[in-house]
Amino acid sequence: MTHEKLLDSYAELAVRTGLNIQAGQQLLITAPLDAVTLVRRITEHAYKAGASLVTTIYADDETTLARYRYAPDAAFDTAADWLFKGMADAFRGGAARLAITGENPALLAGQDPGKLSRANKARSQAYRPALELITGFAINWCVIASATPAWAKSVFPGVPETEALDRLWQAIFACSKADLPDPIAAWKHHNAELLRRTEFLNQRRYRALKYSGPGTDLMLGLAEEHSWKGGGGKALNGVFCNANIPTEEVFTAPHREMVDGTVCSSKPLSYQGSLIEGIRVRFERGRIVEMTADKGADAFRDLISTDEGAARLGEVALVPHSSPISKSGIIFNNTLFDENAASHIAVGQSYTENIRDGSKRSKEELAALGANSSLVHVDWMIGSAELNVDGILADDTAEPLMRNGEWAI
Ligand code: ZN
Ligand code: ZN
Repeated sequence: MTHEKLLDSYAELAVRTGLNIQAGQQLLITAPLDAVTLVRRITEHAYKAGASLVTTIYADDETTLARYRYAPDAAFDTAADWLFKGMADAFRGGAARLAITGENPALLAGQDPGKLSRANKARSQAYRPALELITGFAINWCVIASATPAWAKSVFPGVPETEALDRLWQAIFACSKADLPDPIAAWKHHNAELLRRTEFLNQRRYRALKYSGPGTDLMLGLAEEHSWKGGGGKALNGVFCNANIPTEEVFTAPHREMVDGTVCSSKPLSYQGSLIEGIRVRFERGRIVEMTADKGADAFRDLISTDEGAARLGEVALVPHSSPISKSGIIFNNTLFDENAASHIAVGQSYTENIRDGSKRSKEELAALGANSSLVHVDWMIGSAELNVDGILADDTAEPLMRNGEWAI
């Protein structure tokens, strides 16, 4: 298939399977400037599917950098509150949301960490009302990717730009199943497989997961009334959507106060323009009490210091080591892909949908069950071919869930 054909197939997949855009529904897209070709295709498919209005907000790496170079110091506590309020308004009004990632993962490496963390905090605070509608699954939403020259260069260093871009696109299409003859049917099948796993896990009702592997010895308690999710799901507006393309994970809510032991990262984490590698943390009663990293330790320390919940877990996800993303052998420096190559955990906010009837419960009820609350939600990878995971039943019996990174069930 030609690149044009693949791009079109991918755009249609995002609209039909990712968002499942409804007739008359508005669509809000955020995208890097370099993703404009993909955005045009998506916009076309969205209107063909009946969207009433498609609005895209572009971000540009160079203008982002200009702020760090030239803006006055006092400006770093500022965020575009009005924009995020508008986004929250759009979601409350029923708009669907598509985020296209593809930014340069190392864009802000080397910038003043103090400015970075202040800017991130201001942004997180301003974004919170809109983000809560996303994490609460109020509307149908989806995250996909666009290859961009800067991102491709970070994934394939030393490779000429056109070739790197082409290889990254091929990897995106393959991981997203957009290169198959019928991607939409392939996703139906994939969703059914993920649903089987979540049904098994939900029926076992493990109270904790026990992780062991090199540098990892962790007992991770699960929230009471936790619910495993994976693949597509129905948003509160009644629309069945796939929030991530690709997705290989099944995930649930850890108990914010019941995580103990040590764990280390198995892949680099790209966070707000910095690459963080070789993270090692120790948890005590749910909280990170010690941390080191081989690279980007300051960025990780800033992240977990954002607020009280940022040093606790909001998500735990199991992904087999043989996932297509892992098999590609590529380190994408982008969480949408890398989190689907390996089992992972996320510090910060938990998903309401990971607690049974979560959307009907108050914040206090959710917290009492062990759900976590924070301005941030950042996934990082802990899975590898050496990781073993046991499910711990209420009576403390251990059952093998994963052996050497693969499902044992
Ligand atoms: Zn995840
Ligand atoms: Zn996550």
